[in-house]
Amino acid sequence: MSAQPLAHSTAPIELATILPPEVYQQAVNQAELAISITDPKARILYANECFLRVTGYQLADIVGQNQSLLSNRSTPSTVYGEMWTALSARRPWSGKLLNKKKSGELYLAELLVTPVLNPAGELTHYLGMHRDVTELHRLEKTVRNQKHLIESVIDAAPMAFALLDPTGRIVLDNQEYKKLVTDMQVREPAHHLLDLLRPGWRETLLGDAERCEFSSRETRMDRTAGRARWLSVSASCIDIHSDCADSYFCAGGQPGLLLVISDITNLREEQERARGAALKASLAEEERTAAIREGLSAAVFRLEEPLNVMASAISVLQRRDPASAEMLRHALENSREHVESLRQVIPQSPQEMVISVNLNEILRDVLEICTPRLLNAGITVDWQPSPILPPLYGRPLQLRMLFKALLENAIEAMNVKGWLRRELQISSQLVDDCIRISLLDSGPGIPEEWRHKAFEPFFTAKSGVGKHIGTGLSRAQQVVADHGGIIDLDESPSGGCAAIVEFRIDGDPI
Ligand code: FAD
Repeated sequence: MSAQPLAHSTAPIELATILPPEVYQQAVNQAELAISITDPKARILYANECFLRVTGYQLADIVGQNQSLLSNRSTPSTVYGEMWTALSARRPWSGKLLNKKKSGELYLAELLVTPVLNPAGELTHYLGMHRDVTELHRLEKTVRNQKHLIESVIDAAPMAFALLDPTGRIVLDNQEYKKLVTDMQVREPAHHLLDLLRPGWRETLLGDAERCEFSSRETRMDRTAGRARWLSVSASCIDIHSDCADSYFCAGGQPGLLLVISDITNLREEQERARGAALKASLAEEERTAAIREGLSAAVFRLEEPLNVMASAISVLQRRDPASAEMLRHALENSREHVESLRQVIPQSPQEMVISVNLNEILRDVLEICTPRLLNAGITVDWQPSPILPPLYGRPLQLRMLFKALLENAIEAMNVKGWLRRELQISSQLVDDCIRISLLDSGPGIPEEWRHKAFEPFFTAKSGVGKHIGTGLSRAQQVVADHGGIIDLDESPSGGCAAIVEFRIDGDPI
């Protein structure tokens, strides 16, 4: 008799007519699962071949025995308590027990016990099915141990790790990375760093992840409180294997991006110190040259005035006293020659290379150089750098001179006898496509009518001839213009002067 497919039958079919009872028995007997049937007191009535193979017992050894003969007596009694609570309520129970084979060898059994009820709903038997999961458990433990070990090593590592999936989601990180979140005051430092060091990474990661790779790119992180931090970042592609069911038959994984972020602040500070000393010397040298240049320019500018007066006097004397006019003309020519020789020796400003600069770094350098003067004048500085600033292409020495001039103007404005409020607020901000640097002092401020004139060469509102020749702001404006930016003077919230400088990020220096 051949078996009929159940799905095609229209009338109720007696199962026994399709599958003879001996087939059930053979199927259960040969199943690759340890099966036992007990009475309601858990006394074994039947066990299949697999049960005998797993436990090592003969059928004659176990029939009539309680299933507890498999117990190693080390499974917690609460487990049995839960098992019997479920079974007493006619609910199936599944769990793991520590069993002992006939040989005394222990094994971990994953057991499912199902109550068997008669048509009247009375419990007649229990069906037990179990398998030896010792090896599986060992593998699970090994994987868990390795995971724990890897996590401990990653957590103890002195660098921050963040693993991003193809959508940019952080799927793994470590303690150092979590510290970065607090330190950088951004929600996802990995995204910030990638935006900065690998613009367009999101699109690339989805399409061609390997193009996101880079090695040891450095960036500086400025903080309102505490010293700036230097980070070195590397990004490498690794395969992430999905744990979703639909990816079970997929051999390959999805590309993920592993970011390794190391703090190289100490190393950079050492380099910074050496650079600072060299910088101070080169700034002092450039300032000396600039002072000579400006002093000579001012002298030439001022000499032009009496020479022009002489030229007018010559034209007046020409008719009345030609001899004196001739003498004066001769003297004027000589003087003009001397002025020209003077103009020839004016030192030219050196042509600097255009490189990628960080304005926070420039401002910090200038602050460091001016610290003694700020301390002497009793000025408190509130430095608020933007945590992350895009690079600007410019001439670092010129930019340092620019901000030093603005800082010195602020110091001089506040460092006057009897002036009580001496506060300087310096900030850098990213506003749209511009980097804005603001220097707000609490000095007396600049009258509105002087705010434009102040940029004219040789304009000075300060008394004391010789000390101020009034070229600071005109030079500052020149540097700003050379970098494609704008500079403005305004009133600061405290009534002092606000010097605002703005550079476009994509602006090319002239
Ligand atoms: P037991 O004296 O057997 O019982 C411990 C506690 O369980 C008792 O205090 C009582 O509260 C409760 N309990 C026991 N029997 C009953 C009952 N009939 N009705 C209500 N509550 C009861 N155990 C294993 O260690 N390994 C196995 O592979 C295993 N397979 C089993 C398969 C089946 C089908 C069934 C029904 C039980 C199985 N058991 C198995 C459980 C086993 O019968 C014992 O309950 C268990 O081994 C604890 O034995 P014990 O001698 O320490 O305590």
